Amino acid sequence: MPKARQWLSAFQTVLIKGGRPMKRVQGKVALVTGGAMGMGKSHAEQLAAEGAHVFVCDRDVVAGKAVVDGIVAAGGKAEFLTLDVTKESDWAVAVDTVKAKAGKLNILVNNAGILILKPAHETTNEEWDSVFNVNVRGVWLGIRAFVPLMKGIGASIINISSIYGIVGAPSAAAYIASKGAVRLLTKSCAVDLIRFGIRVNSIHPGVIDTPMTKDLLHGDAETRKAIMGATLFDRPSQPSEVSKAVLFLASDESSFVHGAELVVDGGYTAN
Ligand code: NAD
Repeated sequence: MPKARQWLSAFQTVLIKGGRPMKRVQGKVALVTGGAMGMGKSHAEQLAAEGAHVFVCDRDVVAGKAVVDGIVAAGGKAEFLTLDVTKESDWAVAVDTVKAKAGKLNILVNNAGILILKPAHETTNEEWDSVFNVNVRGVWLGIRAFVPLMKGIGASIINISSIYGIVGAPSAAAYIASKGAVRLLTKSCAVDLIRFGIRVNSIHPGVIDTPMTKDLLHGDAETRKAIMGATLFDRPSQPSEVSKAVLFLASDESSFVHGAELVVDGGYTAN
């Protein structure tokens, strides 16, 4: 590309405001559930680094506050909210707090999730219900609570599903069913919420190195091989690689991306 065109395209992609490059989600308010560790921590950190005011939410208060301290120390804007996604009353407090402190919510990342490794015929009622309570009911409660604060401002809801919301795998029946539900809940909300200017998309990570998968990936070689499955890379993904997809869907760069399922899986589902 000729030098002049290179310069022009760099200028077009980096908006200059007050002499400084404008950050990708500057001025937006974001809330990330399950933000205390793993991918949620990374999403919160990257959203804050790109200019968002981030509410980091988790039921793990100590780890969640540490994430906020890290963001603030790095010059970002963040606050911690104790939030168990299964509790309607926690969501009500979160709405009141975000309304009082920020007045709006542009980005809702429904990330909190739990995994139980059992086939359907061995799953207990309690296990099934706990997975669905967190992974599905928690997402729905969050959307229902925050839509009023997201209307008419150009907002984005990002639901974290999984490749196991698209394909099956051994011994994770409740988890896989729950992630499939998140995938289609996302599409139904996309149909219902665009009239309010709210975009809704799902992300489908493959095998990611987080506390959730620590024992599976860093135990014996056979288990690691099994969990890596059909991934076409010889490594799992790092949480930050999924956060790039979150940033894209959170920012105005994805202004026409709606009801989509964004797969970040190192080729797992292509194989
Ligand atoms: P993780 O277990 O490492 O972290 C999950 C976080 O969610 C923790 O901070 C935990 O305290 C919080 N949490 C759990 N239940 C909660 C509740 N009821 N209320 C509030 N917070 C709660 O998980 P992760 O690997 O970072 O996964 C994040 C999301 O991505 C989950 O929805 C998971 O299902 C999904 N996912 C993970 C992988 C992977 O390989 N790790 C792959 C695909 C999808």
